[in-house]
Amino acid sequence: MASKIDITTYNGNIINGAFVSTPTTRHSIDPATGEPLYEVPVASKADLEDAVSHARAAFKTWSLTTHEERSALMLKYADAVEANHADIAKLLTMEQGKPISLSNKEVTMSIHWLRTFATMQIPEEVLEDDEERTIYSTHPPVGVVGAIVPWNWPVLLGLGKVGPALMTGNTVIVKPSPFTPYCDLKLGELAMPIFPPGVFQVLSGEDSLGPWMTSHPDIDMISFTGSIPTGKRVAASCAQTLKRCVLELGGNDAAIVCGDVDIAKCMPKIATMAFLNSGQICMCAKRIYVHESIYDEFRDAMVEFTKKNIKTGGGFEDGVVVGPVQNSMQFELVKGMYAEVEKCGWKVALEGKVRSSGKGYFIEPAIIDNPPEDSQIVREEPFGPIVPLMKWSSEEDVIGRANALRTGLGTSVWSKDVANAEKMARQISAGSVWVNSHFDVAPNVPFGGHKESGIGMEWGIEGFRHFTNSRSLWVWKKIFE
Ligand code: NAD
Repeated sequence: MASKIDITTYNGNIINGAFVSTPTTRHSIDPATGEPLYEVPVASKADLEDAVSHARAAFKTWSLTTHEERSALMLKYADAVEANHADIAKLLTMEQGKPISLSNKEVTMSIHWLRTFATMQIPEEVLEDDEERTIYSTHPPVGVVGAIVPWNWPVLLGLGKVGPALMTGNTVIVKPSPFTPYCDLKLGELAMPIFPPGVFQVLSGEDSLGPWMTSHPDIDMISFTGSIPTGKRVAASCAQTLKRCVLELGGNDAAIVCGDVDIAKCMPKIATMAFLNSGQICMCAKRIYVHESIYDEFRDAMVEFTKKNIKTGGGFEDGVVVGPVQNSMQFELVKGMYAEVEKCGWKVALEGKVRSSGKGYFIEPAIIDNPPEDSQIVREEPFGPIVPLMKWSSEEDVIGRANALRTGLGTSVWSKDVANAEKMARQISAGSVWVNSHFDVAPNVPFGGHKESGIGMEWGIEGFRHFTNSRSLWVWKKIFE
């Protein structure tokens, strides 16, 4: 029977299988109410040193475990997360702001991810095998992995690093965002009775902790998800010790809607993917290009759909799709984007209101009507519930515009002519491209970005490979005969 955790208290960082409290604590804010949540630890440099040395010690034995042994523990851990599903989802809504239905979905996805990771193994290849010699391609783990997690999907993106890191034989130290440390600490707590000490540790800290990790000589790899500017800092810091790093960064996804679509059928998915998690998803539809022949009809249908179905409110209210923006810094940033709408005189199809009463960071969805291609709302990732619609007429032109930015995370193409949509999709430079969908992800499918949206992939066997070194093993069999 998996253990139940108490989501209402502070216990400490998780170092070497034990709670370690810190002299200083801090808290984050519930973005729906502006009220402080409970205190969490502030890891010191000495705490990091401890965690790294325990991770190194644990690596010696963990890296020698078999796939079956790791898999059994991963499944046990997935059961423990499942036994606490409702509590983790509640805590997620409290710290992140997302609607409880979406928190439940994130926890369900995370459990499915863990169970799938438990079945995945990088195949060992025999490159050559004859009487004289056998040559293998093998994939030993990298060592100690630092997993740096953002605030928008702290459960899925945290466990999405832990699962592959551990299944490939590494030990892992998770660092949550200071905005959302609660669930990740509890996920570490759930791992304590399951994994050997030092294998899965969690350190919550302040802004200084990330740079300490990326520059630490005894951390062998950083798996980072976050913004592009931070990703560049992480890469520069990792370069000092030639640490491996996988960077999953920001995006500004295009959705290309062709003239032959059935608007009513694709609208629920496109509109929801523009505003889900208050637009705070790396792969939201952030630039929607609509064929000029259906532009007006599509715009009006999107406004109608959004008004009717995309309700803004606190995450525990019924039927809410757009919760609060996660933190005050992001709130100011999105508010600035809304202010820009008026200043630049962009046409507005749906005016999203910034709610200034109350303490929560609420902003209603906004739809901008055909702004210039070089406007800020088209070129920059807003990470809020605001989306521009633009007109297109030729395929070559729209593909060029979709590919024009320095980001390349995801893009979707929508058409009844699936073969032609696929032809268009194959011309897109992005880590994920969908035909007649947006934001599909799966634990067995690699996920990552082109250009400044990232380096390397997560998930899938390709993602697993990034947590390993490539080792060619030459075995000569007859030399002493
Ligand atoms: P962020 O870059 O501000 O922070 C991400 C993490 O990095 C946090 O844990 C933070 O504490 C840590 N950090 C900050 N400075 C650091 C430094 N110098 N060295 C090491 N670590 C440091 O990102 P965020 O605001 O938490 O997340 C939002 C961004 O993440 C958006 O741009 C979004 O598109 C992107 N994102 C990308 C993906 C993806 O998979 N590609 C997924 C989710 C979010």
